[in-house]
Amino acid sequence: MTQPQLTDSFGRVIDYVRISMTDRCNFRCVYCMSEDMQFLPRQQVLSLEEIYILAKAFTELGIRKIRLTGGEPLVRNGALDLMSKIAQLPGLDELVLTTNGALLESQASELKQAGVKRINISIDSLNENRFKKITRTGSLQTVLRGIEKACQQGFDKIKLNAVILKGKNDDEVIDLLNYAIQQKIDISYIEEMPLGSINSHNRSNTHFSSQDVINQIRKSYDLIETLEKTAGPSRYLRIPNIDSTRIGLISPHSHNFCDTCNRIRVTAEGHLLLCLGNEHSVDLKRLIRANPGDEHLVRETITNAIQNKPYSHNFNLENDTQVVRFMNMTGG
Ligand code: SAM
Ligand code: SF4
Repeated sequence: MTQPQLTDSFGRVIDYVRISMTDRCNFRCVYCMSEDMQFLPRQQVLSLEEIYILAKAFTELGIRKIRLTGGEPLVRNGALDLMSKIAQLPGLDELVLTTNGALLESQASELKQAGVKRINISIDSLNENRFKKITRTGSLQTVLRGIEKACQQGFDKIKLNAVILKGKNDDEVIDLLNYAIQQKIDISYIEEMPLGSINSHNRSNTHFSSQDVINQIRKSYDLIETLEKTAGPSRYLRIPNIDSTRIGLISPHSHNFCDTCNRIRVTAEGHLLLCLGNEHSVDLKRLIRANPGDEHLVRETITNAIQNKPYSHNFNLENDTQVVRFMNMTGG
């Protein structure tokens, strides 16, 4: 039987969805949320059953890859059970996860058993004090133990994600790369995106481009550009003779990745977002709650919404906040 496909009005096949399982988090990273972040009342967040209904509808429409993210997905009670149910959905190639790593030491082996194939782990500094400054509440040692535990479980891939901020951690590009090489895992460097306004943090002061990252790495290593693509927005570089670590660059400012975009997102509140950098959304939670059991309507609404997927976002450096949503709501 041929798989169904979701195609937008520009002919892009949409086969990847990122679902934010919660807006809550045990960290308060400076670029992601304010220290006194107000979280959504529980009733406004998708229930685990509602997330499953959506995941099922997406896979029936041809989605092949689901990333669970947040907020911090592993703080949500029942997350592991939900993951093992989603992992078994027919047509799904990969269930993957983005986490801050704080709970990985205790959950890595259950995640593997639940059927999670790959994990992205965020880490922006290898210096304990600085790690605390960036995350406000995190412990570096706990995250490092979590990464090492995850590396022992035999996941298909583990990748570190580092947001590089000028004057905060831009001198750690090489240290983070060396750590990834030592652990034999990938690393992606992310340019900060203007999502959500945070009083204590001015994004235009901290912009550090992917080209700046490359220039730093070239001081220590030769780099080979590759044409490798995953289902995500990274482009990849390699170091000659180091096969176990790829270097990804996620560059929403300097290297627009929209023309090959295959992704949509569902926020913790159940809004279907067609583009990270646009506010346009469809309220799937309201639809599900108003029409219990009507799976056909859910699929039809998603199919129609895809036709409104914009061609591109347009982040620019002059405007600090171009989207009012915070990343923890959106699902990074
Ligand atoms: N809590 C999990 C974590 O930190 O991995 C998952 C959610 S977090 C929102 C997903 C990713 O988004 C993290 O790698 C984080 O560093 C990144 N992120 C958060 N806010 C960002 C921003 N304004 N610009 C770029 N990346 C951001
Ligand atoms: Fe939490 Fe991830 Fe946002 Fe940091 S980036 S505050 S870990 S959701």
